[in-house]
Amino acid sequence: MNFLNQKYDAIIVGTGPGGASVAKDLANKGKRVLVLEWGPGKPVTGKLWQYIKEQCWPGKGMLIVWRNLLGMVRGITTGGSSLFYYGTCFPVPHKMLAKYGVDVTKEEAETRKELPIGILKKEMLTPMAARIMESAKSLGYNWKQLEKFMYQDKWRPGFQFGYYGDPHGVKWSAKMYMDEAVKKGAVLLNYARVKTVILEGRKATGVEFRMKGEKYKVFAPEIILSAGGIGTPVILRQMGLKDVGKNFFYDPLITVCGKVKDLPKRKDEIPMTAGCLFPEEGIVMTDMALPTAIDKVFTAQVFRIWRLFETKKTLRIMIKVRDDLAGHLTDGGGVRKALTDDDRVKLMKGYAMAKAILEKAGAKGIYKTWYLAAHPGGTVKLGEHVDSDLKMKNFENLYVCDCSVIPEPWGLPPALTLICLGKRLAKHLTGEKNAVIKTSVSVKKASSKIKKKARARR
Ligand SMILES: Cc1cc2nc3c(=O)[nH]c(=O)nc-3n(C[C@H](O)[C@H](O)[C@H](O)COP(=O)(O)OP(=O)(O)OC[C@H]3O[C@@H](n4cnc5c(N)ncnc54)[C@H](O)[C@@H]3O)c2cc1C
Repeated sequence: MNFLNQKYDAIIVGTGPGGASVAKDLANKGKRVLVLEWGPGKPVTGKLWQYIKEQCWPGKGMLIVWRNLLGMVRGITTGGSSLFYYGTCFPVPHKMLAKYGVDVTKEEAETRKELPIGILKKEMLTPMAARIMESAKSLGYNWKQLEKFMYQDKWRPGFQFGYYGDPHGVKWSAKMYMDEAVKKGAVLLNYARVKTVILEGRKATGVEFRMKGEKYKVFAPEIILSAGGIGTPVILRQMGLKDVGKNFFYDPLITVCGKVKDLPKRKDEIPMTAGCLFPEEGIVMTDMALPTAIDKVFTAQVFRIWRLFETKKTLRIMIKVRDDLAGHLTDGGGVRKALTDDDRVKLMKGYAMAKAILEKAGAKGIYKTWYLAAHPGGTVKLGEHVDSDLKMKNFENLYVCDCSVIPEPWGLPPALTLICLGKRLAKHLTGEKNAVIKTSVSVKKASSKIKKKARARR
């Protein structure tokens, strides 16, 4: 195969926000990058079938935690989960990262310049979200518009939000970063599932993967694992590292919904446009419009058969909580993590608040849906498994850059943080991070020399 004869500076495994941001920045800096992605890289259609195949396929995108029948979803496709995410941008946990020697303030500023991050313009704040916000505010909640990753100038009334992928390109996804990386010369192989990392002693030299039934080995001086909070520990387990994939989080959520008769719900409602954060308690609430198919699944899960055809009259709030670090992954990526009593108490607290908001908004027949999770992480932790440069401790040339590295429970959607970490890692790999430090040191030295000279003159 042609790709085997080429020389690469780095191999990146996975194309979610973590991997795609490293790939794009390395390719932009002239590095020869090979990116291996388990899922397909087809054009985004925005059709339900693509979403089912790439995010909900049992055992692949959809993983079930049998202890509490909690469904966990992830995107197995170019762009990773961000192809189907809800595009809301939550703050970077700078204080938490600083404890582990990681500072991404510059990278956050760069990302904010590069990507379309901001609260939605008035026309995009649609009736359901506006009704919930008004009700929450009247009850004294600090319910505010949230920042979104959306090219608002491309949006038109009537466009369905990109729950199933966004063919209009309004919602930013990591696939866009991958497209840019490929334009700059990165080689992207789809359907390439990495099994393990090839080692020479403690030095990573390549990866072994399967693609369309064939087994391959490729080599490069730097290996970056960005296969996500579940995918990366599974690869590391194959290398014999049995202490990864333990005591992790998955940010469980429920939704709470009620029926309103006087609200013409539009096709172009946007989810998570506004909400309220309770950082102390570890609870976040947002509005959560859903398309008909997902609404029906949520409704059927809790046997509200008589509500199956009422999507258009449904007002919905999502409750997501910061869960305790617990559980373990199996070697094959099976998720064994039950909700703790503490997690359930938080979810019920959120339920009570959401119920009051919906009642105030005039909703009737309020009920909650079953548990779901969408952000597995903390499986290969900063401090414990990777150092502040995201390098695997005790290994050379092996890095992890995805949701796995988040070291503590956090409870907020992480896309912005992962992009920042990716940018920082790309700088480290090109020597730019150290160069920046050197420059600032030399500037400091120069300025102190000038001060000394000035003092001498006086
Ligand atoms: C429905 C939903 C809504 C969400 N909404 C938001 C939101 O509004 N805001 C927000 O910030 N976050 C949101 N998230 C979470 C966010 O999308 C994820 O946290 C983020 O994408 C994680 O990025 P990552 O780089 O860690 O991994 P992922 O995005 O999971 O990417 C990992 C990639 O690695 C590939 N891979 C896995 N194993 C292998 C292997 N062995 N070999 C090769 N490739 C492999 C996968 O196919 C995938 O492409 C949402 C998630 C979901 C599911």
